[in-house]
Amino acid sequence: MKDCVFCRIARREIPAKIVSETDRILAFRDLNPQAPTHVLLVPKEHVASVNDLAPAHAGLVGELVLAAREIAAAEGVSESGYRLVLNVGAGAGQSVFHVHLHLLGGRNFGWPPG
Ligand code: AMP
Repeated sequence: MKDCVFCRIARREIPAKIVSETDRILAFRDLNPQAPTHVLLVPKEHVASVNDLAPAHAGLVGELVLAAREIAAAEGVSESGYRLVLNVGAGAGQSVFHVHLHLLGGRNFGWPPG
């Protein structure tokens, strides 16, 4: 989508610290990290939110989670623990309307989340 910030990062129109990339997904460091490791994983295809995912996206969602697992290992947080977060809708804190999986690690996390 033309003005979507994450689509623009995927097209290399906006700089980002890219962590990994496949044909279908891109992972880059969050601009405003909330933990020592804070990586966003996004599909290259524009999908506004989890509410807009279709059954055809099942493989893509699986790829996001498995890529997050690989990045967690590479970042050294697999054993200490990490959090994967999908904020869905403004009420849940979603501010960028392009599906993104947060990978947060490197510190302890409270529950319930704020
Ligand atoms: P959410 O609030 O779940 O929609 O998360 C959006 C995240 O995108 C926030 O953590 C922002 O810090 C992050 N963000 C926004 N713009 C950029 C950008 N240009 N590069 C990297 N991260 C970004």
